[in-house]
Amino acid sequence: MARIAIDISGGDLKQENVIVGIDLGTTNSLIARMVDGQAQCIADHGKEVIVPSLIHFAPSGEVIVGEEARPLLTRQPERTVYSAKRLMGKSYHDVQAHTPYFSYRILDDGTDSLVKVQIGGRYYSPVELSALILKELKARAEHRLKTEVRQVVITVPAYFNDAQRQATRDAGKLAGLDVLRIVNEPTAAALAYGIGTQAQESRTVTVYDLGGGTFDVTILQITDGIFEVLATHGDTYLGGDDIDRALLQEFARQLVVAPDQMEATLMQNLRLLAEEAKKHLTNHETFAHTLPMSDGRQVRLQADRTLLNTLAQPLVDRTLESCRQALADAQLTPAQIEEVILVGGSTRMPYVQQQVAAFFGRTPKCDINPDEVVALGAAVQADILAGNRKDLLLLDVTPLSLGVETAGGLMDVIIPRNSKIPTALAKQYTTQRDGQTGMRITVYQGERELVAENRKLAEFELKGIPAMPAGLPKVEIRFLLDADGILRVSARELRSEVAAEIEVKPQYGLTDSEVEQMLLAGFTHAKADVETRLHIEAQEEARQLIYQAERFLEKHASALTETERAQMQAEVDKLRQLVDSGADKQSLHAAMDALDTLSRPFAQRVMEDALRQAMVGKGVGEVE
Ligand code: AMP
Repeated sequence: MARIAIDISGGDLKQENVIVGIDLGTTNSLIARMVDGQAQCIADHGKEVIVPSLIHFAPSGEVIVGEEARPLLTRQPERTVYSAKRLMGKSYHDVQAHTPYFSYRILDDGTDSLVKVQIGGRYYSPVELSALILKELKARAEHRLKTEVRQVVITVPAYFNDAQRQATRDAGKLAGLDVLRIVNEPTAAALAYGIGTQAQESRTVTVYDLGGGTFDVTILQITDGIFEVLATHGDTYLGGDDIDRALLQEFARQLVVAPDQMEATLMQNLRLLAEEAKKHLTNHETFAHTLPMSDGRQVRLQADRTLLNTLAQPLVDRTLESCRQALADAQLTPAQIEEVILVGGSTRMPYVQQQVAAFFGRTPKCDINPDEVVALGAAVQADILAGNRKDLLLLDVTPLSLGVETAGGLMDVIIPRNSKIPTALAKQYTTQRDGQTGMRITVYQGERELVAENRKLAEFELKGIPAMPAGLPKVEIRFLLDADGILRVSARELRSEVAAEIEVKPQYGLTDSEVEQMLLAGFTHAKADVETRLHIEAQEEARQLIYQAERFLEKHASALTETERAQMQAEVDKLRQLVDSGADKQSLHAAMDALDTLSRPFAQRVMEDALRQAMVGKGVGEVE
């Protein structure tokens, strides 16, 4: 998602409106706003600014969100939901491989429909779950600010697809919020550092985000206030928790207990201790703790920074491999990156900071609290939308082209990459077969010539087109891309004005890594394979010609002699054989020309006959 700086005078939002920024995170969520030109996270009286993204459903019907739900994670795991963000816009098939990760019940209805969580006898969609977190954030901010909070900006990862962005927006709506904008988390992080808010500023920035359970790296190109995602890479199941697990194993070794034979409470205590040790080692060289065991032993657990670094190394190496991939996809070298921004609690680890600095050859920016930086950036964006920064309005551009599949599996772009949004564009299409009453419209995103190499977004059917000869119906396909990058597609047959049925079925069947792959494919300068396109176009043209020629032979058999019919059929068969055998476009064109040359006089004869008949008819009419 990218933004353009333009001048605004005024704007329709009132100054006194409170617009807040929300970081709706996998593990933690935060809400922030601008105070006297400074972004600040909002904490309810006596509470932390961080609200853990945890939801507990008590059997009594009470819903507990945030820190208070944490102890219930171990006591009632089946009634306590964490990581709801991982389920946003996903089907059961998408998350199937990861179900052991969730201790609550994810409903398998065996379909591609959206995933649901079962708590007791009730089912919750990820949208409802996220809405509960948003509601809690809203209530806290309202309590603190003593004013109603309605208008918000919510951040999402750069790799979120349309379905996930739409789900986030729906969650906001359900929480009683007016979601003004969905913003990419790396964009928000850059904004928090004031990067990209100046006109005539050009910068290539890397945002390295290592949280508790997820890692992603994004390369942004910021030019005159336009934020363009050049590449994004990561691992949605890699984070600080993995380092805790490695340290837990080490402690288990010191205790001389095999992790699989450990009691649940000891395991839980050790896990918490491992995280505590890890955090302690951020500011100290050594850690020691004496643990009383149930058998009366007192065991001294120890760790130092060297040990922690050794345990963290394979995980940090994986993040650097992602950075290498992202750079390769953006066709950049580390030296071409002008700023590196650290996001996520795990980037506090000195080892992570050192490794990232060594990889990019520059000191990363980390002076803004890495847990808060995204929420603070969202508040900066909210402030801009509120019209409080009269110099700037950030508009989006779409990073990837959007289009539909046309004959032969070709991509036909309707909204080109880098178009300013919101935008609405339409193109006209027609039918390929006589009497065709339905048309399947498949929407894709990407830069490749073949839809198979792009990302499928949605599919729907336009039904009820009145039967007409091929090529006559005019079907207008309209794309409306709103400010959040959410796409609405409509189709209408213009000649008939018959109300056509349209059914939109978003595709939820993509896994995280597939989504990432598809995004990357678009960014890897996918050069149009022009030869492939021309070949497919020639094949389609040939198929169309075969179809028309055969219809002609059927309808006008009596106008031709037997020899003529045989000649024409032979040419048709030859062309079909060429298409079926995958012959090159030159041979196809030659055979099409031959068929055309042969059949043109026949068509002319048929037309003249028809004209003569019509004249006769007309004459009769006139006499009457
Ligand atoms: P986030 O998902 O961005 O909230 O990050 C949470 C992760 O950051 C957890 O794995 C924490 O253990 C880790 N974390 C938080 N503070 C520190 C610290 N001081 N040193 C190392 N890791 C930390």
